[in-house]
Amino acid sequence: MLTIGMLGGMSWESSAHYYRLANELVRDRLGGLHSARCVLLSVDFADVEELQRTGDWASAGRLLAAAARQVEAAGAGFLLLCTNTMHKVADEVQPAIGIPLLHLADATADAVIAAGLETVGLLGTAFTMEQDFYRDRLTARGLKVLTPDVDDRRDVHRIIYDELVLGVVREESRARYRSVIASLVASGAQGIILGCTEIELLVGEADSPVPVFPTTRLHVEAAVARALS
Ligand code: GLU
Repeated sequence: MLTIGMLGGMSWESSAHYYRLANELVRDRLGGLHSARCVLLSVDFADVEELQRTGDWASAGRLLAAAARQVEAAGAGFLLLCTNTMHKVADEVQPAIGIPLLHLADATADAVIAAGLETVGLLGTAFTMEQDFYRDRLTARGLKVLTPDVDDRRDVHRIIYDELVLGVVREESRARYRSVIASLVASGAQGIILGCTEIELLVGEADSPVPVFPTTRLHVEAAVARALS
């Protein structure tokens, strides 16, 4: 079994979910007392969030590249960046290490394509919904990506940073996400990408009339498949 390298803390609420899911999936695949070989390096999210907010992506790239080198030095066979948003600096992280980065948008695109869908709605932080780095990776695979309108994007982003990364799950926020999902489906979305690693702590299949693609779960499934292959 390869050692899964997790670069997390963005936020730790979703990193805890990564850790639990990896162990559950290895247990389910191998049975008995088996659990995931993994290393988790968790950064201080306050540092990362400030760099995001001020647009200092160069420093963010350096910070995560240095952390990724520590994950590699700890024995990881490959790296997961446990956040959709920070894949904005994936091209700075990959050259800093000698192990492959398993890109979250690729694992997500694989799942959408395997489900036979072409048009998907994308929920995530404003960075993920509004910038090119993530959407382009999906459209390069032939997918059509819809994003919410400006008011919906503002609320989706706010609920992530004001609530979900702090472990706060509110019923009214779930209702707000359900209405955003319904609008995307009305615009033609055949599936919904939960493109922020905390969103699946709030909504799931039951909140959507079309299939959802929970990126934390998809990332961990791809990682366990690679670790055990
Ligand atoms: N975990 C989130 C994501 O998947 C947001 C936190 C962050 O900005 O890294 O995008």
